[in-house]
Amino acid sequence: MAVDYYATLGVRRDATGDEIKRAYRKLARELHPDVNPDPEAQQRFRNVTNAYEVLSDPEKRQIVDLGGDPLAPGGGAAGAGSPFGAGFGGLGDIMDAFFGGGASRGPRSRVRRGNDALLRLELDLAETAFGATRDITVDTAVVCATCAGAGAAPGTQPSTCSTCHGRGEVQQVTRSFLGQMVTSRPCPRCSGTGTVIEHPCRDCSGDGRVRKRRTLTVKIPSGVEDGMRIRLSGEGEVGPGGGPPGDLYVEVSERQHAVFTREGDDLHCDLRLPMTSAALGTMATLETLDGSETITVKPGTQPGEVIRLAGRGVPHLRAVGRGHLHIHIVVETPTKLDTEQERLLRELAKLREEETPAVVGGASGGSGLFSRRRSGRRSR
Ligand SMILES: [Zn+2]
Ligand SMILES: [Zn+2]
Repeated sequence: MAVDYYATLGVRRDATGDEIKRAYRKLARELHPDVNPDPEAQQRFRNVTNAYEVLSDPEKRQIVDLGGDPLAPGGGAAGAGSPFGAGFGGLGDIMDAFFGGGASRGPRSRVRRGNDALLRLELDLAETAFGATRDITVDTAVVCATCAGAGAAPGTQPSTCSTCHGRGEVQQVTRSFLGQMVTSRPCPRCSGTGTVIEHPCRDCSGDGRVRKRRTLTVKIPSGVEDGMRIRLSGEGEVGPGGGPPGDLYVEVSERQHAVFTREGDDLHCDLRLPMTSAALGTMATLETLDGSETITVKPGTQPGEVIRLAGRGVPHLRAVGRGHLHIHIVVETPTKLDTEQERLLRELAKLREEETPAVVGGASGGSGLFSRRRSGRRSR
C-alpha cells in the first residue's frame, strides 16, 4: 500500500511547492530530534522528512500522483544507505536549507565588521546642561596603511588553503540513528577563509589593522545625563582584514557639583539660615547655572520650605523647556549662646509666652504640641 505523503505533511493534493515547504518547516521544528527527544516524534520526523523529500521533487511527486511510491524498493531513488536520502544533518542544516542560510556556504570573508568602542567622558554640570564640544583622544584599531587591510606583505598574495582547497570548510561524516550525517565545519587551518597568508604584513602581523591614537571632536548635546551614551557612527574599531569599523560610544560621566544635586532635569540645593534670618526674612545670593540670582527669604520661613526657581534647572534633552531649581530651607538653631544672647532669647521667649514648656500632653495630645507628621514634604 502506498504511503499517503500528502496526509503525512497535512497538505492538500493540489498544494503548491511553497505550501509544502511551509508545512514541512513547521513540522520539522516540532519534531526534529534536537528539540523533541520523544521516540514517537522521531519516527514521525522521519516520515515527514520522507514526505517532504518526495513532494518537493516534481519527478517523485508525479510518481505519487500516479499512484506509485518513489521510496518503495525499486520505486525510485532514495539516498543509498539512508532512510531519507543523504545530506540532512543537524537541525541547523535543515533550518539553513529553509531559512536563507545554507545556500551561501563556502569560504567566508577574511573581512569582518569591527567592534564598537566605549569611552568615558567626564563633564561638569554646566557642560551636560548646556552642551559642549570636546576633543577626545581614542586609541582604536585602524586600517593598516602598509597592506591597506589585506594582511599580506606588499607584493605578495594570500594562497589557497591546502587543507580545504579553498572551500573554507571541511566535512565530517558521522553515523547516527538517523543514518549517515554529513556535517561541515570551518577549516581549522584557514579559519574558514579558504586562503592562507604565507607572508604576513610586518606592520599588522596579517590582521590588516593596527592600533592608533587619534583625536576626535565630540559634540555633547544640551541636557545629557550621567550614564548616557553618544554614538559616533563608524568611529569604533576597524574590523579584521580592514573590515568596516564599529561605532564609538562616548559615555557621559557627570562630575558632582559643589552645590547642586541633579534629579532628572531638576536641581536641588540647601540654603542654611540662622534661626533669626528665617524669622526676620533675609536675602541671599545664589550662583545658578545662569549666573547670580538674589533669593528673597520671606519673614517667618519654616525649615523644610522650598523656594522654587522655575526654569532654572537643566534644559530638556532634544526638547523645549528646562527643569526647575529647588532651594530647600534648613534653619539652624544656635548652639553656643553667650550670657547676653541667652538673656535676650529668654526675654523674647517671655514676650512670646513661650518661656515655660507647656504641660506635656497625654495620649490625647491635649497640649497641641504634638501632631501627626505632615505628609507630602520632600525628604532628601
Ligand atoms: Zn598590514
Ligand atoms: Zn582551509
